[in-house]
Amino acid sequence: MTKTLRILVLAGDGIGLEVTAEAVKTLQDLAEITGHTFQFDQAPIGGVAIRVHGAPLPPQTLEKALASDAVLLGAVGGNEFNSLPPDRRPEAGLLQLRNALGGFANLRPAFAWPGLAGNSPLRPEVVEGVDILFVRELLGGLYFGQPRAWDKEANAAWNTMRYTRDEVVRVAKVAFELAQKRRKKVTSVDKANVLEVSQLWRATVTEVAEQYPDVKLEHQYVDAMAMHLMNTPRDFDVVLTENLFGDILSDEAAVITGSLGMLPSATVGGKVNLYEPVHGSAPDIAGKGVANPLGAILTAAMLLRHSAGLQEEADAVEAAVRRVLDQGYRTMDLTRGAVSAKVLPTQDMGKRVREALIARSAPAEYEPSRH
Ligand code: NAD
Repeated sequence: MTKTLRILVLAGDGIGLEVTAEAVKTLQDLAEITGHTFQFDQAPIGGVAIRVHGAPLPPQTLEKALASDAVLLGAVGGNEFNSLPPDRRPEAGLLQLRNALGGFANLRPAFAWPGLAGNSPLRPEVVEGVDILFVRELLGGLYFGQPRAWDKEANAAWNTMRYTRDEVVRVAKVAFELAQKRRKKVTSVDKANVLEVSQLWRATVTEVAEQYPDVKLEHQYVDAMAMHLMNTPRDFDVVLTENLFGDILSDEAAVITGSLGMLPSATVGGKVNLYEPVHGSAPDIAGKGVANPLGAILTAAMLLRHSAGLQEEADAVEAAVRRVLDQGYRTMDLTRGAVSAKVLPTQDMGKRVREALIARSAPAEYEPSRH
């Protein structure tokens, strides 16, 4: 059955424009191959929105986002805005958007693409075969808990780590459901030997696990987990954790992939899901046409999987990326450690992926990951 999906594209600033263009073209070609209808609209966010509308998230942009089936974002930010107060900078627009859409589960894969192991600072034998999906709680914990303050007179500051049982239940369910479609293992990360909030987290996750008897649950303390991730990353499938620990651990695990330019993400569970590559607007390379579009293209694959239920199509996009990498094609950021790399600019890399998608052979040839 063919599907119709309204996708709002917020390309943003810097390389956001360049990489999002390749992600959109990939979806357009996929629509042609499959018969699905993807209706694209676009709107300004970040620096471009400040220049045109005087605000990083204009009301029209938010309205369009809330009326769409999925939002595909590039990146925001630029050096010219660095002197603005934080609440008027491009990045504030992204934070406002995330809050308004209300997604509470941030999904971030850390996947070792074959052929890119040499790009990671870790030894290839540690990195090869790694396929982790982080599920990070995004709306609770230390980043949002009250009270919070910096009392300058008292020379003291404090933040509050707080979770309710319901907040833990809803994100844990996302993790277990995703694990059921993968290798059926959830590693829940906390600091239950010290923190009461982690004790609630652990008790709740253990209780939720009873509804998913086919999924194995293990618990890790966050400090031990930081070490295991570097020593034995292949041991992990879905890693479920709260906001602060997830922020740190998912960045740590990003070294496995070898380049920021390869990392997709999705934020789900709210009114509309938000899909964005992990990297920023990269002012140092913006406009040069050399940015890696694969993170954005893989983000589009996550959109197909999580907002449209198009599993096979998402697999096909990931398989096309794999094929292009297998053929030895690289963008500039992926050249470290690659022998005889064929270095492509952004648009040519996007084109290679689309060619691989169109020429895709029997699904049995693929070993797609499931992000
Ligand atoms: P960045 O991710 O933009 O860049 C970090 C480094 O990685 C740079 O050397 C850059 O060239 C490289 N890089 C990033 N993406 C790449 C890609 N696709 N291909 C090749 N190389 C790539 O982070 P930064 O330099 O710390 O921040 C730049 C701006 O982006 C700032 O204004 C920051 O606030 C903003 N930012 C936005 C987001 C977002 O929109 N989600 C995320 C992070 C940073």
